[in-house]
Amino acid sequence: MKSVKHWINPAILSMQAYHVPSSAGLLKLDAMENPYVWPEELRQKWLQVLKEVPINRYPDADAAALKERLRTVLAIPDYVSIMLGNGSDELIQIIALALARSDRTYLAPEPGFVMYRLISQTVNTGFCGVQLNPDDFSMERTAMLSAIEERQPALIFIAYPNNPTGNLFDREIVLDVIKHAPGLVVIDEAYHAFAGASFMEYLDDFDNLLVMRTLSKSGLAGLRLGYLLGKSAWLDELEKIRLPYNINSLSQKSAEFILSHYEVLADQAASICRNRKELYRQLSETDGIKAWPSAANFILFRTLGLDANRIFTGLKARGVLIKNLHGSHSLLQNCLRVTVSTEKENTVFIDILRQIIQSYH
Ligand SMILES: *Cc1c(COP(=O)(O)O)cnc(C)c1O
Repeated sequence: MKSVKHWINPAILSMQAYHVPSSAGLLKLDAMENPYVWPEELRQKWLQVLKEVPINRYPDADAAALKERLRTVLAIPDYVSIMLGNGSDELIQIIALALARSDRTYLAPEPGFVMYRLISQTVNTGFCGVQLNPDDFSMERTAMLSAIEERQPALIFIAYPNNPTGNLFDREIVLDVIKHAPGLVVIDEAYHAFAGASFMEYLDDFDNLLVMRTLSKSGLAGLRLGYLLGKSAWLDELEKIRLPYNINSLSQKSAEFILSHYEVLADQAASICRNRKELYRQLSETDGIKAWPSAANFILFRTLGLDANRIFTGLKARGVLIKNLHGSHSLLQNCLRVTVSTEKENTVFIDILRQIIQSYH
C-alpha cells in the first residue's frame, strides 16, 4: 500500500485538528455554555417526552414539527425557509461544501470565529481574513469593501455579535458589505439571545443573505441544533448536501419540548445579560485589565503589562478554565476570553483573577 500521506488530500494534511482542552474538575468558563439548568419539574416532563421517542425508527428526515415550532416561537416570517444542522458548525460545513472550488475565496473579518477558516481549508477553497480595527474591533468599511472588490468572494461569513471580540458591527457597514458582495453572505447570529439585534428583517430585501443561529449558547450545547434562515433558492440547493437524518430523534423532540417553554431560556438569557454587565464592571475596575464591552455571553479582555499566558495558567492551576487567545491573532496580544456565568461563578473567577494579578507585584 502507498502511505497514508499519499492518499490524504494535501489540504487536509496541512491542517491541525480542532483541539478541545480537557476541562475535568475545572470551573468551565471557556466555551460560552449556559450555566443554568432547567427547573426539576421541567426536567421530569422532558423525560416523559423522551420516553415516548421511537428510538428503533429513523428520525423525521424533514424535522417538520420542530421547524414549525421554531417558526412560531421565533416569529420567522412565511417567506423565510428553515434548514436545520447538527449544530451551526454543520451548517457552515454544508454551505462551504456547496460553494467550494479551489479557484474561489471565502472571506470573513478577523479576528473571528476560527471555524470559517478551518472549514474553508477542509473544502480546499481559499480564505481571506480582513482585519478589524485594532482598538475596538469594529469593521473597517474600506478594508472590507476593497477586499470584496479585489477577491470577489463566493461566500462571506459575518458573526454578529463577533466571536471572540463580543461586539456588534456597525449595521450600515454590514449592509454595505451585503450590497457589494458578489456572492452569498451568511450572518452568524450564534449569540442572538444576548444581543437584541438581528439581520432577520433584511432577509426579504437581499437575495444573497442567509441568517444562521444555534441553540447552543442558549443552554442546549449538548443537543447540537443550529438553524439557517433564508430564501428557498439557496436552501433548496443546500438541502441536497445535508445528510437525511442529521438531526436525531432525541434532539428533535427535546428541542420541540423546550421551545414550547421558551420563556425558561429567555429568562436565563436575561440573567446572563445582567451578570455580563456586572462582570464587565468588575473586570474594568481591575488593575492591569482592559475589557471590551460585549453583546454576547462572554467578555474579551487584555492583560496590560502582564503576561496573559501566566494569568491563564494561574487561573487553571486554581481550577478556572477560560480561553487563552494570546498567539491566535496579531490583534489579540495578551487577550483572554471568559464566558459570563452565574453571579457566584463570576465572583469566583474575578476573585482568583485579582489574587493572581496581585501576586505579580
Ligand atoms: C459557538 C459558535 C458557533 C457554533 O455553534 P454550534 O451550533 O454549537 O455548532 C457558530 N458561530 C459562532 C460565531 C460561534 O461562536
